[in-house]
Amino acid sequence: MTAKLKCLACGKLERSPEHRVCELCFKIFHKEDGKNQVLTGKPLSLSEWVKERVKERFKDLQNQLQETQEKYDVLQKEVQSKAFQNSTEGKYVEQREFNETMRQKKRKLWQEGGGNRLHWQLKNLEKETTLLEGALEGFEELSKASSQEKSQNPNQSSN
Ligand SMILES: [Zn+2]
Repeated sequence: MTAKLKCLACGKLERSPEHRVCELCFKIFHKEDGKNQVLTGKPLSLSEWVKERVKERFKDLQNQLQETQEKYDVLQKEVQSKAFQNSTEGKYVEQREFNETMRQKKRKLWQEGGGNRLHWQLKNLEKETTLLEGALEGFEELSKASSQEKSQNPNQSSN
């Protein structure tokens, strides 16, 4: 099974292996490139453009991750405190029974509060963050490599 490649710029649509972005993003790039050429007379670099998109998405993703993490933590605390409220209703219960009741109560509260969905969202956001981090590192390597190329004098032999 081959993994489908996602567009680096939008992260949503598929791209072909020989391109870094999807067709839609390429159209957007093309339009911005045209505007830029009119304004500054210089062409935009696709690498730079994609890098900026990746950086924006990365920031966005980090915010989402933080928000989701906060909701997750709040829910965990809520579940914990609600489960303890009136948990025995003043009656004496055996520890084992108490534990089991608590476990079930917590699970119910967790599900009602959307805990499973939050957990799934967190995992996905973490995965995407890791992917983008990798992509950003790749860009850094690329720009390092290209600046090295530029600084090397092609007429000089390395001997
Ligand atoms: Zn795209």
